[in-house]
Amino acid sequence: MSFSAAKWRDRFPLLAAHPGLHYLDNAATGQLCEAAFDAVTHHDLTHRANVLRGTYRLAEQADAAYENARQQVATYLNAANAEEVVFTAGTTAAINLVAHAFGEGLGAGDEVMLSLAEHHSNFVPWQMLRARRGVVLRILPLAPDGRLDLARLEEHLTPRCKLVAVTHASNVTGAVTELVPIVSAAHAVGARVLVDGAQAVQHGPVDVQALGVDLYAFSGHKAFGPTGVGVLWGKAEALEQLPPFLGGGGMIGRVTPGETTFAMPPRRFEAGTPPIAQAVGLGAALDWLQAQPWADMHAHTARLAQRLLEELAVLPGLTFLGPRDLRNRLPIVSFNLDGLHPHDVCQVLDRHGVAVRGGHHCAQPLMDFFGVAGAVRASLAPYNSEADIDALLAGLKDAMRKLG
Ligand code: PLP
Repeated sequence: MSFSAAKWRDRFPLLAAHPGLHYLDNAATGQLCEAAFDAVTHHDLTHRANVLRGTYRLAEQADAAYENARQQVATYLNAANAEEVVFTAGTTAAINLVAHAFGEGLGAGDEVMLSLAEHHSNFVPWQMLRARRGVVLRILPLAPDGRLDLARLEEHLTPRCKLVAVTHASNVTGAVTELVPIVSAAHAVGARVLVDGAQAVQHGPVDVQALGVDLYAFSGHKAFGPTGVGVLWGKAEALEQLPPFLGGGGMIGRVTPGETTFAMPPRRFEAGTPPIAQAVGLGAALDWLQAQPWADMHAHTARLAQRLLEELAVLPGLTFLGPRDLRNRLPIVSFNLDGLHPHDVCQVLDRHGVAVRGGHHCAQPLMDFFGVAGAVRASLAPYNSEADIDALLAGLKDAMRKLG
């Protein structure tokens, strides 16, 4: 299958309806693909019922659609089986689930290792766990280009470490984490590895078995699926060892006034009515993405990112946050223009039809590392084209003229 960005763009209803929009905020949210849009509509029109409760035909159809979505996620992640897929409200909810369920077994002196490049979603739940249970947080420092400094892994990963929670790719620099050495070092001290896959999943299927990680979290809306749904994948034996986090309907074995036994994973972690139609939409999005020509799409976004890096580099007063090259990096480019506030730059860009985000990107420790309060971020998806980069560069030159 050959790849055309223009044809791909047509498969995204919002973009197809807004030809003048240069959407370059994909790290925040990917646009909803037609496959997901159609699946959600179809589900709500034909199979809408609660799941795992009813025995009438409609309810059984809803069950089948929901479990089919679980299988579609499992296939995208190359999970050993669908029971390893827990539907959550998103990455944040998935990480909080682990911080509570896994955190329940931790106590004073146990250690959790993070990196300085984490999104707040992978910082704050651990700081809250530290306040509840007295665990020690170890923060892996960064090399000057913002990549995780793996040379310092041994120093921070002690035999007291029980969990390593790191991002698969930074939402600010796009740098992809080298997980293999982290996983083998963590497993050597008996620690589990949780990966925040929020950014990576948008850029093609992930193989959790090849990565060797224990737990993997991501959000549907970043993978061109609906909002309000996400996934915690976990190796079966890792999930089975975790107690539930939220209690309620759907997650029980038997309830008496005195006590409750719990269902096996994944249901143990899906208390209450789950985001059913959203899960169905996410499954459809991933099923569609799975069949896309990723090698061509990566070459396309890398070409655009390379051009962007080169043309930004010659703008006077521009500084990048993160690596300057494209090695092992997603097409996410963050930068500042000397003396210009990122929000002001974004407002001028908006007048050019360019949607990019400016701010701290929920990564204030990383902003502190770079010595800035915020940055402008352009994040590319396969539907982006040279015209989007042209508009961004023209808008930036205009911002420099108007604001400089
Ligand atoms: N982790 C990373 C790396 C992210 O980029 C984001 C969102 O920007 C999140 C976690 C949180 O995702 P959500 O808000 O969908 O839970």
